[in-house]
Amino acid sequence: MIITIASGKGGVGKTTTSANLSVALSKLGKRVLVIDGDISMANLGLIFNFEKKKPNLHDVLAGEAYVKDAIYKHKTGVYVLPTSLSIEGYKKSDLDLFPEVVNEVADEYDYVIIDAPAGLNRDMAMHLAIADKLMLIVTPELFSIVDGLRIKESAEMAGTPLMGIVLNRTGRDFAEMGEDEIEMLIKGRIIGNIPEDENIRTATLKKMTVLEYSPNSPSSKAYMELALRVVGSY
Ligand code: ADP
Ligand code: MG
Repeated sequence: MIITIASGKGGVGKTTTSANLSVALSKLGKRVLVIDGDISMANLGLIFNFEKKKPNLHDVLAGEAYVKDAIYKHKTGVYVLPTSLSIEGYKKSDLDLFPEVVNEVADEYDYVIIDAPAGLNRDMAMHLAIADKLMLIVTPELFSIVDGLRIKESAEMAGTPLMGIVLNRTGRDFAEMGEDEIEMLIKGRIIGNIPEDENIRTATLKKMTVLEYSPNSPSSKAYMELALRVVGSY
């Protein structure tokens, strides 16, 4: 199953969720590939400490490397297809090859998680179309939710249904929107609630997922619960 992790706004937790959900699914015994689909602002490689790997997705999208050679096994057991932060790498990439690249390896995994770029551009349309399901990341704020709704509608137009909403960074603000209100606005189910947790920032600085850095932290527990929901949902 291919799951695209997307949001309307940037900085809401797509990369954090892609990495930690992948590790959580792997802990449940699943074979997981996580792909850095944000080829202009690659961050996923940083969390797994793979940002300098060669070849990477840029080389594959430039037709200079085989996809299998650009997939690296992380110590958590997760397979990672990283992208580099190089501008040259971005320039030489042909994103039209992306669906082919994903389809070439998808069958070998229980889950393929795609960390998508923010916003509604052509790149995003491709990431939405290629997935079986959309996982929408929102923070409990009106703008994040309204923009998230547009992503959900675009995914549906591309034939990709919403698997569920993940509410991130909850408990930070007294004025946050309630779960019922958010579900009504987006017309979808909340399947994860990840609290604001400073362990996430510390883990990122150490180039680790929070599940490795602090497995008993509130956010780690929330990511394990999310993984259980994902596994149970089909
Ligand atoms: P995106 O990929 O959507 O742009 P990121 O996953 O890179 O977002 O997250 C943006 C920033 O917010 C990162 O510095 C990350 O460490 C931090 N962050 C994300 N989720 C949480 C959380 N639940 N608690 C605390 N910090 C978080
Ligand atoms: Mg990101």
